[in-house]
Formats: sequence, structure tokens, C-alpha cells
Amino acid sequence: MAAAQVQRMSRLMVKTLRDDPADAETLSHKLLVRAGYVRRNAAGIWTWLPLGKKVLDNISQIIREEMDAIGAQEVLLPALLPKEAYEASGRWDEYGDLLFRLKDRKGGDYLLGPTHEEIFTQTVKDQCTSYKDLPVMLYQIQTKYRDEARPRSGVLRGREFQMKDSYSFDTTDEGLAESYALHREAYRKIFARLGLDYRIVSAVSGAMGGSASEEFLAPAAAGEDTFVDCPACEYAANTEAVTFVAAPVDASGAGPVEELDTPDTPTIESLAAHLGVPASATLKNLLVKVDGEIVAVGVPGDREVDLGKLGEHLAPAVVELVTAEDFADRPDLVRGYVGPQGLDKVRYIADPRVAPGTAWVTGANKADTHARNVVCGRDFSVDDYLDVVVVEEGDPCPACGAGLKLDRAIEIGHIFQLGRKYADTFQLDVLGQQGKPVRVTMGSYGIGVSRAVAALAEQTADAQGLCWPAEVAPADVHVVAAGKALQTEVALEAASLLSSAGLRVLVDDRAGVSPGVKFTDAELLGVPRILVVGRRAGEGVVELKDRRTGEREELPLEEAVSRLR
Ligand code: ATP
Ligand code: MG
Ligand code: MG
Ligand code: MG
Repeated sequence: MAAAQVQRMSRLMVKTLRDDPADAETLSHKLLVRAGYVRRNAAGIWTWLPLGKKVLDNISQIIREEMDAIGAQEVLLPALLPKEAYEASGRWDEYGDLLFRLKDRKGGDYLLGPTHEEIFTQTVKDQCTSYKDLPVMLYQIQTKYRDEARPRSGVLRGREFQMKDSYSFDTTDEGLAESYALHREAYRKIFARLGLDYRIVSAVSGAMGGSASEEFLAPAAAGEDTFVDCPACEYAANTEAVTFVAAPVDASGAGPVEELDTPDTPTIESLAAHLGVPASATLKNLLVKVDGEIVAVGVPGDREVDLGKLGEHLAPAVVELVTAEDFADRPDLVRGYVGPQGLDKVRYIADPRVAPGTAWVTGANKADTHARNVVCGRDFSVDDYLDVVVVEEGDPCPACGAGLKLDRAIEIGHIFQLGRKYADTFQLDVLGQQGKPVRVTMGSYGIGVSRAVAALAEQTADAQGLCWPAEVAPADVHVVAAGKALQTEVALEAASLLSSAGLRVLVDDRAGVSPGVKFTDAELLGVPRILVVGRRAGEGVVELKDRRTGEREELPLEEAVSRLR
């Protein structure tokens, strides 16, 4: 077996800190900085230091293996992109302030890619011409750029970050469903291997169906998404996306209802114009009709609807605004309300799965607050809805009636059946079996690679520090030389034995650093197993410690090595 790497702390660039950085709010942010894994350069812009880079690479490697296993092919597209493709898709404008735009020396417009549907579509149009060339699945692990409004929480929300994005190209709807299912399964394997606790939730509701877009959420207090989770059945939903609702409307139909004068053929632009907001605006859960069925649409995590993304979510469906008429024969529905103030108005729709009396209102702006058992207008107005009851743990699940849980989570992955939106934009056709051109249908699938580092830290850290799952840890064993020259000598010998056994070793061979400091650092750095060469080094006896459980045991070095192997 090839010897694995030995990293010597005496030479490793890692400076640990005892105090939390002043600006850090989340556990992962504090610990990743204190353990010397990352360094902040500017808001939402981070340097990956040696240990951090190892964890990032380990995660990338797991993703790579599972993507390769479903037959996806790795490519690397540029991050610096001319604007034309994004103008064609409309996203040059729709992305608004989220997009980093720049000019070259000749005055040409460019952007730093926030996600790459356009460029992948162009790539496949160029490379695939016949149905025989499809299906094809492509992926990359690449730096993405988004000028996030609130780049907080360390690497959880960067303005420059690492994403694995993949795209599938099929000639039939069944093919797309298959590519989507393959990705969903690969994602389950990836997150299981990472050691992440996660849930799959539907990201959009109603007519969009459960499978058209799903998110992988990692429950964590630092998460910016809220979701309901049923412990007894499969029901789980992102409250940002799903529609919940209220008890029947009172007879007068009272409530903060704005009756819309619906444009004939609504588009994102006309919708925006109607609402009196720019097309790049964001709104909270928005009530619209999709192919004739009323749905509410939200962009999970953003706590609002991005009109640009709305098109993405709904394509290729026909989107219409809801009018008062739509409520005429639906006594189960509270009348819709659509207002332009993204942050302080809310819209309602009944979810037929929600039994009367167990209904909720979502879109509330106060964190973790969701109203229930309310009649809009009778119990509250838009101005005071924030004061209504909070959904509590144990409320009945709309699917099975069991007690629900309400949790915070981090969006670590997102899979979409895009359909033909981008293929239409770029006229991506291949020659079909019958010799006629066939329009291609697409899926897009993302994983936040750098975000996964922080999500894992959030879920696994304890009071002493980071505590990595085996496959992502920056080393398999952390050997601590706790003493003088003898201990250092034995520690280095142990490191070399372990490395010959194929284990990745971090050895703390620093001179002039007390055992106490080394122990504290070992706990903070979070390598899963710690081997201490201390007072019984002369007899060849070491101590083996489990970072997570704290269990320790003294044993001969050889036995420790064979135990760890
Ligand atoms: P969020 O709701 O958190 O803003 P998103 O829905 O905008 O994320 P997607 O467009 O679905 O993100 O991108 C795919 C994945 O990329 C996300 O599921 C997430 O894991 C990751 N990601 C998105 N934005 C960031 C960011 N600013 N920093 C780090 N990772 C991110
Ligand atoms: Mg999101
Ligand atoms: Mg976002
Ligand atoms: Mg998403």
C-alpha cells in the first residue's frame, strides 16, 4: 500500500485562535476561522488555508466519484463570461444586483457566472447534433459568483463560492425524469458519505408538483431556511416554498384583498410592471396560476420570489396572475392578495392537503413565525399578522396527522427539472429518430461544495471544536507529541507507521508548545482520532482517543496502529 501523507504541525501553516472572531455569528464561521481552516479577505470572500483546502477537496472528491458513477462527465467552463448568452435568456437583467458585471479593455460587457445553464446549453448545441448523442449529463466543480445582499455566516453564504453544478440533456420527458432520478440518488449517496444529516423537501408547490424541484436541506440552527418535517411519513416541505393556509374565508370575503386587473398575457415583465416593481425585484410568496391551477411560488431560502427565477421555476408553463374570479367556487381558499412590497406583505392560498383548523399562513417575515388557525381579515390584517400564533412542534401533519417538527436548515443541494426553457432560448435541437429536429429537455442540479464544509461543521462540532466525519476530515489520525524529544521521536515514528498503513496523518511535533495547548488544538482541529504519545512513550505505550466520544485507552503503539488501520 502506498504511504499516505504525513503533515507536520511544525511546518504546517495553521494558526489557531482562542477567541471567536468579532463578526462571527454562526458556529461554523467561528470554528473554521479559529481552527485556521479559512481566512476572510472581504465580505463573502474567503481564502482556503491548508487544512480547509483538504476538507474542501475531500468533499469535491466524493461528489466527483458519485457523479462519475451515474455517467456524468466532468468539464470545466469559464467563470468569466460574455454577456450575450445571459442577455438571450433574460438573466442579464433579471439577476439584478446579484450579478457581478464587468467590462473588458474594449468596453465589452462580461459577468462572473452565478450558475451556468446558458453556457452548458450552448456547449451541447455545439457538440451534440443527433438523438444518438443524447442523453448526456455534464458537471463541473467551479467557482461561482453572486453579489449576495447579506454575505454572512462565513463560507455558508459567500459572494465567491464553490459549486458542483450539473446539467442533463434528454430528448424526452421520460429521459429527463430518469436523469433527475439518477441525480437524486447520487445526491443521497453523496450526502450520506459526507456524513450529513439531510432531508429532501419539495421546493415549489401546487401545480409544480413535488418532483419538478427538490432541495436537500441540512438541519442546523444557522440555516436560513425553515422547513416542516413529519417524523412519521415522508412529508417535508420548505415553508418558504409551500403554501399553507387559513381556515375558510368568512362570508364577507373580508381580508386584505387587492383585486388584480390581470394583463392579457402576463410575462415576468408585465407582472413586474403590474406590481410596479422592476423585473429584477424580489417578492415574497407570490400567488399565480400555472397552467390554470393556482399555486404560490417562493424561492426557498431567499424568503422572497425573485421574478427572474420565477420564470425558471415555472417554465414552460403558462403563468397567469390570480384574480378574484378564481376564488368564486373555492370556499376552501382564502382570497389572494398580491402586493408589491417584497418584505412586508404576504399572500395566501389554501393547500388542499391541509385540513381545516390546521391551516397556516406562511411568508411571515418574523423568523420562525408561521400563523395558524387564522382567518385572514377576521383575525388579523396584513399589518398585524406577525402577531398571530406560531406553529408549534406537534401540529398535525397534513399528510398523515402525526406531530410535525419545525426546523431550521441549510440548503446544501437543489435539483430542478428545467424542461425546455433554455433549449427554446438557444434553439437546442437534435436530429430525431424520424429525421426531424427534436427540442431537447434539460435538468439542472447544484451542490454547494464550500457551503457543505460549513454545514458539516455546524452539524458535527461540539463545545471543544470541529469534529469531522471520517471521509471529509483533513487527516485520519492526529498524533500529539506530548512531552520532550523522546515523545517527538516516538510520535514521528508512529506517524510513519500509520502512513505506511495508508492512513493520512497530522502530527503535532511542534517544539516549545505545551501538551495542554496541543490537546486543545487537537480538539479544535477535529481530526476524528487522536493518538497521544505522552508519559509512557519510553515503554512504547500510547493513548488512543476518540474525538467524538472522548473515550480513551492506553495501549502499545503497534496495537494502536493495527486498531486504526
Ligand atoms: P440560497 O437559497 O441559500 O440563496 P440558492 O437557492 O440561491 O441558495 P441555487 O441557485 O439553488 O442556490 O444553487 C445551488 C446550490 O449552491 C445551493 O443549493 C447552495 O448549496 C449553493 N449556494 C447558493 N448560493 C450560495 C452562496 N452564496 N454561498 C455558498 N453556497 C451557495
Ligand atoms: Mg434557495
Ligand atoms: Mg440564493
Ligand atoms: Mg436553490
